[in-house]
Amino acid sequence: MLSHEITQRWLSYFEAKGHHVVPSASLVSQQSGAMFTIAGMVPFIPYFLGQETPPYSRATSVQKCIRTLDIDEVGKTARHGTFFQMAGNFSFGDYFKSQAIPMAWELLTSSVADGGFGLDPERLWVTVYEGDQESYDLWHDTVGLPAQRIQRMGRDENYWDTGQPGPAGPDSEIFYDRGPRYGKDGGPAVDDDRYIEIWNLVFMQYQRGEGNGKDYEILGELPKKNIDTGLGVERLAMLLQGVENFYETDQVRPVLDAAAKLSGHAYRGSEKPGEEGYEDDVRMRVVADHVRSSLMLIADGVTPGNEGRGYILRRLLRRAVRAMRLLGVTDPCLPVLLPESRDAMKGVYPVVAEDFERISRIAYAEERAFLKTIESGTTRLESAVAVAKGEKRALSGADAFALHDTFGFPIDLTLEMAGEAGVSVDETAFRELMAEQRHRAQEDARAKKGALADLSELRRMLDEHGSEFTGYTELVT
Ligand code: ATP
Ligand code: MG
Ligand code: MG
Ligand code: MG
Repeated sequence: MLSHEITQRWLSYFEAKGHHVVPSASLVSQQSGAMFTIAGMVPFIPYFLGQETPPYSRATSVQKCIRTLDIDEVGKTARHGTFFQMAGNFSFGDYFKSQAIPMAWELLTSSVADGGFGLDPERLWVTVYEGDQESYDLWHDTVGLPAQRIQRMGRDENYWDTGQPGPAGPDSEIFYDRGPRYGKDGGPAVDDDRYIEIWNLVFMQYQRGEGNGKDYEILGELPKKNIDTGLGVERLAMLLQGVENFYETDQVRPVLDAAAKLSGHAYRGSEKPGEEGYEDDVRMRVVADHVRSSLMLIADGVTPGNEGRGYILRRLLRRAVRAMRLLGVTDPCLPVLLPESRDAMKGVYPVVAEDFERISRIAYAEERAFLKTIESGTTRLESAVAVAKGEKRALSGADAFALHDTFGFPIDLTLEMAGEAGVSVDETAFRELMAEQRHRAQEDARAKKGALADLSELRRMLDEHGSEFTGYTELVT
């Protein structure tokens, strides 16, 4: 079943159950404090918080999502993308657990002929919050799931809140057992690679008070209880398409294949460090993921830059280009890869084809600029790395600083490239030099007084944003 068939089937199922079909919102989140839409529920936050009254009491959507917090997992786990689609069903004070749980089960396990996804019920496991007997009973008594495949977990795993006073509640997650070939027995509590999480059902049941982390008081039951669920479309696609991971599914694989062809490296599908071809396979999976994420971000109006969303896009594009370089491709690669992603995505998102002229112009210009940076700095970096290696020491802060200052080499690129050669970098010294430079700029500005003073602040921001990637809060929850 192709990804777009999965999403159509999803929407039809919930529409038939009285849900209003809501189109995906932009990847650029409209919620304050949020950079990107990271889950299907994000566009509905004002309804969940009671700030606005929803025009319907049940909704369903397939939401485009970006999660840069997962960037280090990409290509290494079977299941994480930076861009993915989350299918969801939502109840705003309408139905609750006793309907949400049986519906989820019915959709996953009824046959394809009957409108379901036809998953083998014997392979499904669930987790519930240890204090949520109601959900346990629904899975056990109503659905008929044997006790061995229901695992009770604590507050860290199966409890949802926004990080602030407001709605909170237990959740229940559904996992698919890929079989002994993929890892240890014992359910999702033991192995999250063998047992792939596919669907999270969140039950907004309580009003929480003040507190830190998971340490807060429950003030009472919410007058109107809500349901928020999210299923990863690509994760279901990987199961239904019989492929090994996220990157081999129909909307992602064409870029992976193009990367293999362009670089002349066969994709072997290896999964574990140390297996033959593993490093190259990870690179191809990273390329496939990042090229698609970049396409979708530019389509939603993001342009590469030095801060905020633009910096995330820049990092994604540059990581893809770097990965291709490590596969031996030194010429521009996006003119080959981006159209592949466009063709894989345009069926569901026609805008990526309609607006491709603009999208590709932005992406290709960023690649050219980056290749220039690399070319000018690489020789300098390599000789500094060779010296450091010979002297069995870290690359000095002064070298990292010179690369940054003279060649525009961002520190994370230096860290990455030095790391590949087995050399660490004296980051503390680098940061001290950056701080000194900032200080000098401030002094200069003060000397000149007036308007220029603000530039040092801008410089500081650029420097900081230029060296941090995962530090952003993508959504304040
Ligand atoms: P995981 O534990 O696998 O990282 P999660 O618990 O962070 O997943 P949720 O926040 O519960 O995920 O999101 C709901 C669903 O969205 C997940 O069950 C999964 O199917 C999907 N999903 C989450 N993150 C990703 C991702 N990076 N790539 C693809 N699908 C994802
Ligand atoms: Mg996660
Ligand atoms: Mg999880
Ligand atoms: Mg989850």
